[in-house]
Amino acid sequence: MRVKDLIASILDRRVFTIEDLTNEFYEKWKGILPRSMIKRRITEFVALQVRAGLVKKLYTNGHNYTIFGTKEATEEDLKAYLPVCKICGKKFYPIQHGQEICSKECKREYVRRFKRAKKGYEVDDRHFRPWSREEERLVLETFPDFKYSYEKAEELAKKLKRHPGAIKKRLYILKKELGGCYANENFA
Ligand SMILES: [Zn+2]
Repeated sequence: MRVKDLIASILDRRVFTIEDLTNEFYEKWKGILPRSMIKRRITEFVALQVRAGLVKKLYTNGHNYTIFGTKEATEEDLKAYLPVCKICGKKFYPIQHGQEICSKECKREYVRRFKRAKKGYEVDDRHFRPWSREEERLVLETFPDFKYSYEKAEELAKKLKRHPGAIKKRLYILKKELGGCYANENFA
């Protein structure tokens, strides 16, 4: 592991974590140096560069996670580097390496989706999207006179890729909105 190669990699990346460099050099030195040793050397090297002012900490969360940048790296470079939450799709500042979900709220949603997936409802991003007119029409069509039944909801849930509970809730909302005076042809 040569200093020259480390510096080249850092300059190339502009923004990086210890983990990024460790992974890169571990690939190159696999079977020769253990990962833990590579990581320690890189950590020491980066700490030296920070002290020398060639590298700066762009984001840090205690000892869990630090994102470094070269002296020239800007806020924009950092933002471009940040991971994207796989639930809400927004960029976020991670607190751990490999973190894929931004917040407690998104984590809860992830668990909810996972549970649904196990039950066989293919719930997708629609959950976050508002109900379309067409979907609401289908709900009303499936439950004439607003009479809910789980069997019908389950069937419709698979079609709409929504949870039966969500359909029940929407039916209730529609009933309130339409005041029970719903006529199919008026709604279409
Ligand atoms: Zn999120």
